[in-house]
Amino acid sequence: MNFTPNAPGAAAISTADALYGAIEAGGTKFVVAVAHATGAILNQSRIETRDPAATLADVFDFFRAAERAAGAVEAFGVGSFGPLELRRGAPGYGFITNTPKPGWRNTDLLGTLQRGFARPVGFDTDVNAAALAELRWGGGRHLQSLAYVTVGTGIGGGMIHHGQPVHGLMHPEIGHVRVLRHPTDSLFAGVCPFHGDCLEGLASGPAILARTGRSLADTRPNDPIWGIEADYLGQLCAQLVLMHSPQRIFLGGGVMQHQRLYGEIADRMRHWLGGYLPHEELQSENYVVPPALGANVGVMGALALAVEAAAGFGAPG
Ligand code: ADP
Ligand code: ZN
Repeated sequence: MNFTPNAPGAAAISTADALYGAIEAGGTKFVVAVAHATGAILNQSRIETRDPAATLADVFDFFRAAERAAGAVEAFGVGSFGPLELRRGAPGYGFITNTPKPGWRNTDLLGTLQRGFARPVGFDTDVNAAALAELRWGGGRHLQSLAYVTVGTGIGGGMIHHGQPVHGLMHPEIGHVRVLRHPTDSLFAGVCPFHGDCLEGLASGPAILARTGRSLADTRPNDPIWGIEADYLGQLCAQLVLMHSPQRIFLGGGVMQHQRLYGEIADRMRHWLGGYLPHEELQSENYVVPPALGANVGVMGALALAVEAAAGFGAPG
């Protein structure tokens, strides 16, 4: 195929059956897949996250085998846990930087993959990638702006404006904003290694576990922790509305597997907005929603980055 990496308009010559490689890089697991630009996944696998060398060796093995079976991949995309250096030209561009995850601090994730694959590699945060996937294939197809927040081991968020993920100095880190303490939650110190009682320190999965000794999955329906959790995430949603005005907020991640949380969070969002913004969307039960792509949203996000990398755009400047 006459394909020129990074050439403007290259997407126009990629065929409908072109293949893309997707890498969802998480602190617990990597999910890797080969897929079409339609979002159809041909082959997908899960790799436990160990140290970078062992984990990335498995990533390369997966794609070598997948390409032998299905043919050559045009471009790859990586949606990664962070923080990440996303400024092109910066000395550590493409690195995972200040992560508390053992062994991964200052890891040249993008460079290692670019050298290994010798093809275009799109790169962004896991949550920006997930936001792009909802925009392209999921519940945001008719939208121009949206937020995607994951509530799991950590809390992170990605924002789309005018169809593009928000970058800037680096990328937003909305999981670490400060929230007002719930009146019945004044004693818990929080678990964030950097801030103690930031939002992630108070409302992530490990924060719930540290406070109550169990995850929400094993918590009685009338336990006060549900209301506390909904309040903190409702405060985040209110702040997102005030600062970014997304047309919809998608909440994913392990903690958000409990359907009841969505309504309670939206109620607390409206409480904190105090009736100030009369927009009817904010009253709708379709404003704070699960990702339409479900558990696949992360790997589909990486796929979106791959498709954009093949077309020579979408990477942060
Ligand atoms: P990660 O954030 O590690 O990429 P997840 O989004 O699946 O992955 O989050 C994992 C965390 O979410 C776990 O550490 C746990 O605290 C929490 N969690 C996972 N499953 C559930 C569940 N069913 N109910 C409540 N909390 C959960
Ligand atoms: Zn923090």
